[in-house]
Amino acid sequence: MRKPVMAGNWKLYKTAAETSAFFEKFMPAIADRKRAEIVICPPFVNIPAAVAASSASSVEVGGQDLFWLQEGAYTGEVSGNMLAAIGARWVIIGHSERRQYFHETDETVLKKTQAALASGLNPIVCVGERLEEREAGATESVLRTQFTGGIGALTPEQFAKIVIAYEPVWAIGTGKTATPEMAADAHRVLRAEVAQRYGQAAADACRILYGGSVKPDNVKGLMAQEEIDGALVGGASLDPASFAAIVNF
Ligand code: PEP
Repeated sequence: MRKPVMAGNWKLYKTAAETSAFFEKFMPAIADRKRAEIVICPPFVNIPAAVAASSASSVEVGGQDLFWLQEGAYTGEVSGNMLAAIGARWVIIGHSERRQYFHETDETVLKKTQAALASGLNPIVCVGERLEEREAGATESVLRTQFTGGIGALTPEQFAKIVIAYEPVWAIGTGKTATPEMAADAHRVLRAEVAQRYGQAAADACRILYGGSVKPDNVKGLMAQEEIDGALVGGASLDPASFAAIVNF
């Protein structure tokens, strides 16, 4: 039985004060939730506020990115050790916005995933096809390429510690959600890749989240799919009531 992960990606939103205000409303709304692991990924500078506000609970905090080296002359970067030192337990890697605007590739995704694991962080590694790729019937091949060119090069021990997020790019921030069946189909493709590379037991254990316009009114249908092991939520995770409704699906 795979325990769901419900993760919020706050992108470039909220100050430290707004972060604390979110948790004041969010914590009572999810009190005693044991059904899912809950992760919030604020901008780097607000991780301490999020850690302080959630420290008495099982809610965990993550970064939205990291660099693949631990230190050096890399202006503007943040390392896995730095994230772990301020209380982050998770990190999102290879989000499509990072791939699109910051030129991340499957190769950098692999390096970042290895760096995150070396720092003891739990990586949530994002993959997903663009609209033109889906329309061209290339979804499966895109997912296979992202897998084999990136996380498929991890060792079995490393792979066992990651979570995959399937995020069709056309569904992110657009209000267009993949149907539960479409998402489950893509998850099956990814799980088959895991089985082929790491064996059936690893595939059965691997948690694959869906991300792309998940909202309180569509989360139940998505989570009803056996293939879907949680959600990576952008816009709807910014509001405490809305993210609590998703977590409490
Ligand atoms: C995301 O940022 O990973 C995401 C899925 O965003 P949204 O839920 O807003 O589509």
